[in-house]
Order: sequence, then C-alpha cells, then structure tokens
Amino acid sequence: MRSWIDRLHGVYTKDEGGRGLGDAVGPENLSDAIERLVVADRVLLMTGFFIADAMAGETDGPPGTVSLASALLRLGKSVRILTDAYSQSLVSACAEVLDCGPNLEIVSIDRDTASTDYRHLVEAFSPDAIVSIERPGMNRDGKCLSMSRVDLSAHVPCFDPVFHTAKQMGIPTIAIGDGANELGMGSLPRHVLRKVPHGEEIAAVTDCDHLIVAGVSNWGGAALVAGMSCRIGKNLLHTAEEERSMVEAMVDVGGIDGKTKSATVSVDGIEITYHQQVVRDLQAIIASCM
Ligand code: MG
Ligand code: MG
Repeated sequence: MRSWIDRLHGVYTKDEGGRGLGDAVGPENLSDAIERLVVADRVLLMTGFFIADAMAGETDGPPGTVSLASALLRLGKSVRILTDAYSQSLVSACAEVLDCGPNLEIVSIDRDTASTDYRHLVEAFSPDAIVSIERPGMNRDGKCLSMSRVDLSAHVPCFDPVFHTAKQMGIPTIAIGDGANELGMGSLPRHVLRKVPHGEEIAAVTDCDHLIVAGVSNWGGAALVAGMSCRIGKNLLHTAEEERSMVEAMVDVGGIDGKTKSATVSVDGIEITYHQQVVRDLQAIIASCM
C-alpha cells in the first residue's frame, strides 16, 4: 500500500486548473515541511494574492493558510499571519470560520510603508519556521507579477525580504504555490517554466528550503495539515463544510476568484464542490492513518 505521504501528494497535486506543474517536485518536500512544522514552536505564515482587475484579494491562499494556523495553534504553537491590506479581511473571515480566537495574530503590511524593516519584523517574532502560501514573489526584475504580467508590486508589498532574512538567520522556509509567480518558486526546476505562459518573465526568483507545488495553493496548505495529522495521530484538518464556509465568508468581505476575477464561491475558476471533495479526500487519508 502507498504511504500516506504519497497519497497526500496524489491529492494536492491534481491539475484541475491545467497549469501543468503538478509533478514539478516530489512528495519528499511535503514530508520535510511536515517535520519542520511538528518541531517548531513559533511559525510565521504569509499569504494574500492581490487581483488588480478587482482591486481585491483572491480566494486562494487564506483558507489554506488559516487551516494551517488553526492546526498549529491547536498544537500549542505561536502563530502570526503576515498579509496586506487587500487580503486582511479575507484572512480574518477564514479565521472566524475556523474559530481561531484571539491567539492568532494577523498583521497587515501597507505597500506605502516602503521602509518596512523586514529584518526587525522577523527578529521581533523570532519564528523557527516561515511558511508562504500563495503570496506574490519577485521576478528577475524585482517586481511581483500576476500570471497575466500585471505588476502587483505597484499595489502590494513583496515579502521576499522575509525569506532573505530567514536565510541569513538560518530559519527554515516552506513555500506553497501553483503558478510559478509565487514567493518561494525560485526553487522550481527551471525547465518546467516552459509549461507556463510568460514563464521566464513572471517566475519568482526567491527560493525556499521546502517547496510544495499544488494544483491549487489552498490544497497544499490543507495537505500540510493532513500530513501533520497523520504524523502525530491527531486530526487537525478542517471539514469540507468549513471549506465552503471559508470561501463564502471571503466573498462576503470582497474576496475574488483569482482566475475568473468575479465574486463567486469558487477558487482558481474551480467550483467549491471540487475543493470540498479535495478536503474529503484528505480527511479519508487522515482516517486511514488513525
Ligand atoms: Mg497562484
Ligand atoms: Mg491559485
């Protein structure tokens, strides 16, 4: 029988969006990331992908990030989520659905606070692991681009300096992305950029220690939680009903489907029932580990 890591890999890498990156990295990265998080005491999470057409945050990122935050909090760890002004309300909406409570710190960084001292920001929280989930990453020209080459860094801060600081300080970094333009995707094998329209131009250049490439980034976050659940023998993953509730709550506060650019209860152009089935598939793997 296949290991639970291999089975999780088969679920979160489903290429329903047709982006062709599912097999870019193997399941060992997920396994390594789970080990990092299990032993961490303080975890800094980053998320929020700005959609310029709507001047709003997208529905991919916050649910996977908040699910991970919830799991880490339940294990008694300290958790802080870093995001921007456009995605803050989406992150908060998800946190409310999962009942994360006052222990979850959500910090919004303003693009115009150009002098944000990211080194101080990291040192002040002193995390022993940093996870970026669906956050724009700087390309070769130092800009954060959308998949259609819109310059997002004109509106939202790039969090690459957080990963640079982590590298200098020896803090392990984990990143989840689905399109090559997310922070941490500098670790993506460069030959796969041929599968991505404008791949060389939009590709993020900052790398990470453990890159997880998912069909949809939320699935990568949920898979981390499912993997931690299997690893320690305790189910920490949200339910399929909560998956729907999180996306509905984000749309209620202005969240946008990043692919269709419309305020529908969907993620990356994929209807919510599909995302719910992904959560059920992950739940089934957890059940088989208990
Ligand atoms: Mg993406
Ligand atoms: Mg996505």
